[in-house]
Amino acid sequence: MTSRIPPTESADAEVDIDVVIVGAGLAGLSCARYLAAGGLAVRVFEAEAEVGGRVRTDEVDGFRLDRGFQVLLTAYDEVWRLVDRDRLALGRFEPGSRIWQGGAFHDLPDAFREPGRIGAALRSPVAPLADKLRVARMRSTALMGADLGEPSDDGRRSTLDELRARGFSERFIDGFFRPFLGGVFLDRALSAPASLFQYLFRCFASGDATIPAGGMGRLPEAIAEPLGDAVTTGIRVRAVGPDSVELENGSRVRARRVVIATEAAAAAALTGEASPSSTRAVTAWFAARTAPIERPVLLLDGAGEGPVNHLAVVTEVAEGLAPEGWSLVAASGSEPFTGPVETFVPRALEQMKRWFGADVERWGHLKTHEIPHALPSVDRSSAPTPGFRVGSDGIVRVGDHEAFAAIQGALRSGRRAAEWILAEESD
Ligand SMILES: Cc1cc2nc3c(=O)[nH]c(=O)nc-3n(C[C@H](O)[C@H](O)[C@H](O)COP(=O)(O)OP(=O)(O)OC[C@H]3O[C@@H](n4cnc5c(N)ncnc54)[C@H](O)[C@@H]3O)c2cc1C
Repeated sequence: MTSRIPPTESADAEVDIDVVIVGAGLAGLSCARYLAAGGLAVRVFEAEAEVGGRVRTDEVDGFRLDRGFQVLLTAYDEVWRLVDRDRLALGRFEPGSRIWQGGAFHDLPDAFREPGRIGAALRSPVAPLADKLRVARMRSTALMGADLGEPSDDGRRSTLDELRARGFSERFIDGFFRPFLGGVFLDRALSAPASLFQYLFRCFASGDATIPAGGMGRLPEAIAEPLGDAVTTGIRVRAVGPDSVELENGSRVRARRVVIATEAAAAAALTGEASPSSTRAVTAWFAARTAPIERPVLLLDGAGEGPVNHLAVVTEVAEGLAPEGWSLVAASGSEPFTGPVETFVPRALEQMKRWFGADVERWGHLKTHEIPHALPSVDRSSAPTPGFRVGSDGIVRVGDHEAFAAIQGALRSGRRAAEWILAEESD
């Protein structure tokens, strides 16, 4: 069912503002910040009680649990246009990862970022030497010159095609790229566009993977703060038109321009357009008295046993995530994790016992986040968009589904749309 309303014919609507934005995820907030900075009167309506959309943090018994494990890459320049880095007090992951394979863990250090570990990187049994040299070549040449702003080719080739074309062995693809990129794309099939892989590879190679002190939710809070009362949370927009929106309480808010900044499925419900398919994500959070590993390192399932694809002791990474004396463990599954979510925790604990031993029996399960539409699938048949879209109805669409599925994509989408609106206004 679509929820469109015709253009306003009379001036009896509740308020008169320049731009109304539906949704206070990263794209909506970014759009609002640039529009406000450009001197326009903006209102943002958010259905949930808090800003942030898919980047939020729940408080449970003094632990701070991100809604699905995720990381902030310092290479995302869109973030630093809006937020002072010191304010986020970022905790950083160790470069490289630690991979479960053949019944044991093996480090795969990033010797480019930690030259002192080159010996360990060369000795790591996770990858044949030829694959390590291919990674080195990828880092030092082909992929590193390009712009860090966004994916840059037409996106027609899949990541798996790209890795095979670059000559990587199936063993290394299965043992490293599937769990690592499975954590990034939330999909071990590696069907995401090669351009997105290349772009994110450059981001991982050029900066740190981090978590803000207090959790990822601190990011949208910091972006929203300067907007003050322009953001109203806890109120759903139930219909949209070219110059107004209708709130769930029945009131109409009129504006010269309407921006839809919701996730793809909600945008489709409002506009009647088709929604792209999406990948599901599951993260189970556990409290442990003793950290299963006392390092800020990403652990990967290189054996493909599942259901946990990647795991981190996030209290080893960032401050302010757990009460004193506790460690917080995030265990995440990626597609194709199948089966009802209730089966995830018992199966994950069995897997964790193989990884860390009987101490796992003393972990306390805090919460499981299941995010059915975690990332929009990117259509590999289409050319890249400017990051936003103006429909034939005149309504502007922003969000990761209009750009690319990442924090940087959402923020960039909002900024690009704001720049377009400001340019239109000044004509
Ligand atoms: C589990 C998980 C892991 C991820 N990992 C990473 C990662 O490590 N690194 C990375 O860069 N990205 C990651 N991402 C992706 C990133 O979080 C998203 O791309 C980004 O947050 C999308 O922002 P958005 O503003 O486009 O959409 P959203 O965050 O979905 O915002 C849309 C907002 O619109 C609101 N809304 C919907 N309908 C209405 C309505 N009718 N009225 C009012 N408001 C409405 C929603 O409540 C929501 O707040 C991850 C995502 C998930 C879920």
